[in-house]
Amino acid sequence: MSKTPRLLFANAHGEVMNHEFLSPAGRTGMYLTDVEDAEWIELPEGATLTWLPGTRAVGTDPETGEMVQLDESRYAVGALLPQGFTRLLLPGYVKRPGEQAGDEVTLPLFGYTAVGWYKGKVYAAAHLTDNPDLWNPLYAPEDKVQRAVGEMLAHHSDNRLFEHLSHCALDYGCLTAKNTFLGRLEGALPVSSTCNAGCVGCISEQPDDSPFPSPQTRLTFHPSADEMVDVMLTHIRQTKNGIISFGQGCEGEPSTRWPAIVQAIRRVREVTKDGYININTNAGMTKAISAIVDAGLDMMRVSTISALPDHYNAYYRPRGYGVSDVAASLKYASDRGVYTSINYLVFPGVTDREEEVEAMVDFLRATGVKLVQMRNLNIDAEYYLNQIPPQQGDLLGMLSVIEILKDEVPGLEVGSYSHTPLGSKSGANSN
Ligand code: SF4
Repeated sequence: MSKTPRLLFANAHGEVMNHEFLSPAGRTGMYLTDVEDAEWIELPEGATLTWLPGTRAVGTDPETGEMVQLDESRYAVGALLPQGFTRLLLPGYVKRPGEQAGDEVTLPLFGYTAVGWYKGKVYAAAHLTDNPDLWNPLYAPEDKVQRAVGEMLAHHSDNRLFEHLSHCALDYGCLTAKNTFLGRLEGALPVSSTCNAGCVGCISEQPDDSPFPSPQTRLTFHPSADEMVDVMLTHIRQTKNGIISFGQGCEGEPSTRWPAIVQAIRRVREVTKDGYININTNAGMTKAISAIVDAGLDMMRVSTISALPDHYNAYYRPRGYGVSDVAASLKYASDRGVYTSINYLVFPGVTDREEEVEAMVDFLRATGVKLVQMRNLNIDAEYYLNQIPPQQGDLLGMLSVIEILKDEVPGLEVGSYSHTPLGSKSGANSN
């Protein structure tokens, strides 16, 4: 979009307004930047506009290019994007000083994206990376979900997993949990309450002294192989080309339960060859992952933030493994025909650093990954950047990251969520 939008800001009541003159400033890592070259798209359906407490909005003078901090009464505004869109810039803001140094507000775990106002509409600095339609919450209307949950719980009254997932679907509004009751797309199969990592932005568990709560609470019981098989067969039988996924936001690391998972996969594959069995994992436990692959796994999505050990270790705080173990797990799976992807936690000003991109290209080439899922990292910028090593190389821009990965890794697809091998982006899943 050639024309630059006007700055949006909020008052202390969270009411959003546009500035008559200033353009928005964006942010990449720690740096404020003008938004001249940014790609702007109309705010997509399913996006949320939010104000950023504890901040002051910053705009750009379109005539001089000068950065302008708005007065005390005006807060920054950002968008939270739905699946299918990659954030290109964070909103332009500065933090208001706290009572004491260091006690500025730490923003909750969301993926804040730069926004602006243009010809009566809100625009976001974002790029369409995948078909947003498939994960549109409109496909899971509340009344339909409630009916499906009631029927499922009536038929599976002794299965604690369906009981747990009913809360995820009805209380958290988790679309993957809803899918498990509606029999569509990808279903959820959480199985673990422990994890071999301690991610800075973990959404299921945060240490007591963390400045932000985890948006979800972890599973409190250990599902049996019987309960897993029941959920897997139910989803596979009611969903055409359905995916059933170990590793959800409401649990720790699924591969810590590998003996039960291996048993469950074997028993399901004795009964049916339909559907796709997937695991969302940090893949740090290579022996466990190898056993799960050998049992008949079809797809594996590995969550990562960097191929650079110092950055990875600073964010994941892994216990007893490192990036090389993650690579070994991915290679083992790829070499045995598992459709492998990474859930790439991306952040403008970090992911698009030259050294990060070079390392990621080498990592993807070495591990045979087929799909990169661009996942906007949900975290407060200052908090995240203070936890990881300082960024070095040139800034390439998030759009360039997508292009370079596609150009440098033959056959690689870049999207936003899991696709079945059948429905890889070129084939497009049915809903
Ligand atoms: S790997 Fe997942 S469950 Fe474990 S700490 Fe990280 S985000 Fe949390």
